[in-house]
Amino acid sequence: MNDVIVRLKHLKKYYGSARGIKDVSLNIHKGEIYGFIGPNGSGKSTTIRTIMGLINKTDGDIYINGVKLDGESIEIKKIIGYLPSEINLYDDMTVKQALDYHELFYNKDLKKRRNELVKLLKIDENKRIEDLSLGNLKKVGIVLALMHEPEILILDEPTSGLDPIMQSIFHEILIKEKEKGTTILYSSHVLSEVSSICDTIGFIKDGVVIKEDSIDNIKKDNYTYLKITTKEIDKVKKELNLKIIKESNNEIVLLNTMNINELIDKLSKINIDRLLIEEIPLEDLFMNYYK
Ligand code: ADP
Ligand code: MG
Repeated sequence: MNDVIVRLKHLKKYYGSARGIKDVSLNIHKGEIYGFIGPNGSGKSTTIRTIMGLINKTDGDIYINGVKLDGESIEIKKIIGYLPSEINLYDDMTVKQALDYHELFYNKDLKKRRNELVKLLKIDENKRIEDLSLGNLKKVGIVLALMHEPEILILDEPTSGLDPIMQSIFHEILIKEKEKGTTILYSSHVLSEVSSICDTIGFIKDGVVIKEDSIDNIKKDNYTYLKITTKEIDKVKKELNLKIIKESNNEIVLLNTMNINELIDKLSKINIDRLLIEEIPLEDLFMNYYK
């Protein structure tokens, strides 16, 4: 799991004077699913389009498989499967024609995998592109990204428009891809959507990657809520000196970032009626990063 397949170092992209991304550094390791999370406008698509060579970076470096990328590289593209956030296909083609057309780009027979995906995603190949709903167009985009069995998948908000059943079929496909050793970058503005399948999360805010860590670490024990019922609220505040989430007469909820032994030591000095320690829901953690 240690080889870095996609490495971005201080990537920066300005559209004229407008900020696209300011400072994006991240490391995606072989065979992992990397959740690239951030609100709308934070710079996910700009980062991805820069990796794909669709737009030119202003500064910084991109490495794929250890090779530094400069501009557009056809060879690299063949090992990447890309699903753009907005899929652009010729409107008057049928789905079958669109898939045939893309197959020509690769010098190998893609029929088997293509047909598997079409079946799994329940795609009607006879429909015309212009008649597809957003969700159905997304599904065609997924086939286009996956059918050449790329080593790296770069998926920009892949589930927008998919219903929950299709979303879970899609996640199963990704888990199988991961089992085959495929490396996956999965962008989303919803943490809960990716937290069940991701190994690592990178949070982007205002064009800067502000945190990158394993999902296990992000959920780790030093982040908990402490709900303390006591008549000594002031003492609690003084002894623990933790961020207050909620407070009433004889109850206080704190964000615990302390080591558990240190915490027990401090709590032992207080006369407590009731104590509840609970894991922070991921969504709340997410909100903390974005304050
Ligand atoms: P995300 O994909 O996370 O929603 P984007 O990468 O699309 O974010 O956008 C990041 C920032 O770059 C936003 O402020 C957006 O307005 C700006 N931006 C994106 N594309 C362009 C463009 N073509 N010209 C000017 N600004 C752009
Ligand atoms: Mg986007």
